Amino acid sequence: MGVVTAMTVDFTTCDVAMLRAARAVAARLAEAGHAVLFAGGCVRDALLGRPFKDIDVATSATPDQVEALFVGHTVAVGKAFGVVLVLRDGFSFDVATFRTDGAYVDGRHPSGVCFATPEGDAARRDFTVNGLFCDPFSGVVRDEVGGVQDLAARVIRAIGDPAARFREDHLRMLRAVRFVSVLDFTLDPATQAAVAAHAAWLARVSAERIASEMTRLLCESPRPSVGLNLLRETGLLREFLPEVQALHGTRQPPRYHPEGDVWTHTCLMLDEVPAPRDPVLAWSLLLHDIGKPVTFCREVDAAGGEPLIRFPCHAPVGAAMAEAILTRLRQPAARVEQVKAVVAGHMQGVEAEKMRPATLRRFIGNPVFPVLLEVMRADIQHSNKLFGPWLFLKAAFEAYRAEPVLPPPLVRGRDLVAWGIAPGPRMGELLRALYDAQLEGRLTTRDQARVFMATLK
Ligand code: ATP
Ligand code: MG
Repeated sequence: MGVVTAMTVDFTTCDVAMLRAARAVAARLAEAGHAVLFAGGCVRDALLGRPFKDIDVATSATPDQVEALFVGHTVAVGKAFGVVLVLRDGFSFDVATFRTDGAYVDGRHPSGVCFATPEGDAARRDFTVNGLFCDPFSGVVRDEVGGVQDLAARVIRAIGDPAARFREDHLRMLRAVRFVSVLDFTLDPATQAAVAAHAAWLARVSAERIASEMTRLLCESPRPSVGLNLLRETGLLREFLPEVQALHGTRQPPRYHPEGDVWTHTCLMLDEVPAPRDPVLAWSLLLHDIGKPVTFCREVDAAGGEPLIRFPCHAPVGAAMAEAILTRLRQPAARVEQVKAVVAGHMQGVEAEKMRPATLRRFIGNPVFPVLLEVMRADIQHSNKLFGPWLFLKAAFEAYRAEPVLPPPLVRGRDLVAWGIAPGPRMGELLRALYDAQLEGRLTTRDQARVFMATLK
């Protein structure tokens, strides 16, 4: 296997200032007599002509030597693993000592590290296309693991024995699928077979690490269906999102959903919204119909035709499920709430034209409404194509956007107390009725509100 290749990296897809800063760090290490290379994702992405945000530096210098060379500009983030963060010109770089990992005892972390050569360092990395190095100045690529060939063939392949590598760190199975999906590669058959054989190991990985890979798959893939289908076929999906797995094979009424089952419908929607997708939008698209498998029922057709398929209350049921799923995956509370609101609201929008003005304004005034509108658009596009309610909502949203969508209430609880209303459930009802009247334009001043309230008492 050729180590120094005839390939060179040109860094046209990365930030010029970042490259200059990374080269300054590399130059300092090289001047002190250490071997220094750029490593991993940046080499892969540069060779693919993809933009990238980080440059990782690999060196023969030990962490202590790195700290001594960049005094006052380092953070010992992962010193025990041989990684020191070096700060330079507003950028930060992982400077990692060439290393081999010790035994993995728990399927997550190496028990220790040994400092090593570039060959050893490449061998501890996960996939061949992630095991490449390049010279920081000439850009000449150094390939210890056959990564250049796999990059050309667009294949994700484990370095070494796939099952052994997945046993060391179970998350690598999910990373394999994420890279296939995001890069639009294929998975090497032996690597795929090992994922399929050991998918159950994923249950031992922390929810945070799983969720972060899954979010990246959903947000960054040109076609998330590539990753979703691979997750399903390998059995990984069943391990961490059984509810999503259940969309597969859940039939829908052909009249509304000529495209097929809920799984196909969901995949089509995700693929159609261009990457990069906002995480709330991506998770909302994935989970919008999550309540369908459990609410599926068939009714006898009075006219004697095929039994009718219905999903009564699938949106509120789905909202509760989405909340449970994202909480289980330890997602931030704000994200959980927003996705839940979109899932809950995605069917209400269909009734928009029949909504009372105050209900409509509340619906549009929800901060998550733009996401909801996008989910509705993709939903309609990939089902019956009846865009009437969506066009109505979009027009209403644009009309309201010019003004504050939800104005501050004219009357608050303390005003009611001043007007002689005792705090209690009745007060809440009055406040709501007053605010509705305000939103509908029937009240514009507090005096009017006080008169109006007398009619309600
Ligand atoms: P991206 O940043 O787009 O996810 P990347 O390749 O830079 O891609 P990182 O997670 O930033 O991925 O990791 C940097 C490098 O570290 C990878 O290219 C790979 O060589 C190595 N690496 C990361 N995670 C693992 C892992 N779990 N097992 C083995 N090697 C890993
Ligand atoms: Mg990276």
